[in-house]
Amino acid sequence: MEKEIAGFGASGRNGGWCSALFPWSTTLLAKEFGIEKAKALRMAMIESVDQIGKLTKELGIDCDYQKAGTYTLIRSAAQNQKAIAAIEEARQFGVDGLTLLDAKNSPLATISQGAVFDPACASIHPAKLVRGLAVAFEKLGGTLFETTQVFDFKPGSVRTSQGDFTGEFIVDALEGYRSTLPGKKRESLPLYSLMIVTEPIPSEVLDGLGIKPGATFADFRNLIIYGQRTKDNRIAFGGRGAPYHFGSRVRNSYDRVPAIHAHLERELKDLFPELARYRITDRWGGALGVSRDWMASVKLDPVTKIAQAGGYVGDGVGTSHLAGKILADLILSRDTPETSLCLVNHSSPKWEVEPLRFIAARGAMVAARLADKLESFTGRKSFISRIIGWLTGK
Ligand SMILES: Cc1cc2nc3c(=O)[nH]c(=O)nc-3n(C[C@H](O)[C@H](O)[C@H](O)COP(=O)(O)OP(=O)(O)OC[C@H]3O[C@@H](n4cnc5c(N)ncnc54)[C@H](O)[C@@H]3O)c2cc1C
Repeated sequence: MEKEIAGFGASGRNGGWCSALFPWSTTLLAKEFGIEKAKALRMAMIESVDQIGKLTKELGIDCDYQKAGTYTLIRSAAQNQKAIAAIEEARQFGVDGLTLLDAKNSPLATISQGAVFDPACASIHPAKLVRGLAVAFEKLGGTLFETTQVFDFKPGSVRTSQGDFTGEFIVDALEGYRSTLPGKKRESLPLYSLMIVTEPIPSEVLDGLGIKPGATFADFRNLIIYGQRTKDNRIAFGGRGAPYHFGSRVRNSYDRVPAIHAHLERELKDLFPELARYRITDRWGGALGVSRDWMASVKLDPVTKIAQAGGYVGDGVGTSHLAGKILADLILSRDTPETSLCLVNHSSPKWEVEPLRFIAARGAMVAARLADKLESFTGRKSFISRIIGWLTGK
């Protein structure tokens, strides 16, 4: 059941990073669940990137899948500390194949000292992927009820704008929209991420900048940015910073915030001044879902037969694929290596009541901005950034 059309949500409008990234760092996963469980989840995430490539090929979904890896640029001494920590963490656990690149082997961004390269990332066209999956689902015999708004659900039945439906299992996959259902305001926090895209840019220009076909890029700042060279040679570029809305409200009008879109344009130009002469053709945004402990989870209550998956934060392309596989296994009572992963049946605490939630979410945004300013000034990882890391599982 989908209120609008399949892909209306974050899945149809994201940055197209099909990555092995996960909201919690490997170190935190190891601390909470043990080293072996942490490594198993990292491996499952890395495999998900390839499985999406394989599955879309098998299903004939042309979603511009290109596995060209991701470059996290190092643009200050403070970011260099984080890069070294990322390489050290990968070395310690021995699963992620991160490498440190010098400036001439990474995208040629301004004041870049190089990058950390992670091969476990493909780029995709999100809307082509999700629409392709919807078509494949129907071809396999599934029925998709679009323009069907769910008002509420309880064990065995769902109340919708098209009437009541019954079913043995119910999967709540509302993610950034979960808070819009009765009684669920504190389960998931809708965090807005906004995007811009350039007109097509000549290949020589992008090649000259060291942005390889299909590559994705970011840097180590606190207020996340993310970019992708699309199949048709545009740069799709996004970032956080849009405001949280009181009461976990989600509205279509929140998808476009002129000040944040202008900020993204400035940041893209700051990274690659050569791109300033190319037009920004589209601006949009959307809500992603954040659980109180920033941990993604997949769960099935064997008594009520209600399942839930989400809390992917900004890493939902790969993680929702893994979650989908786990949901199928749980519902069909299949014991698989994936059903013993540490995100299975994990319970996150609830978010605070308002106005505390509002103060925390808005405060975190201001803190991330401040930490970036301090770090570029002092060259050291800031105290605020450590607190943000501690609060967000990094
Ligand atoms: C701008 C942006 C950029 C992002 N970039 C990346 C990225 O590059 N890589 C990455 O891995 N992740 C990224 N993410 C996160 C990722 O897109 C999400 O984690 C993922 O798509 C979540 O998928 P989902 O199916 O769980 O939720 P969604 O795709 O949000 O689907 C939820 C659906 O529920 C529907 N719905 C809402 N209310 C109701 C209701 N009452 N009844 C019925 N249906 C309802 C919505 O219309 C929506 O289609 C980004 C997110 C955003 C917003």
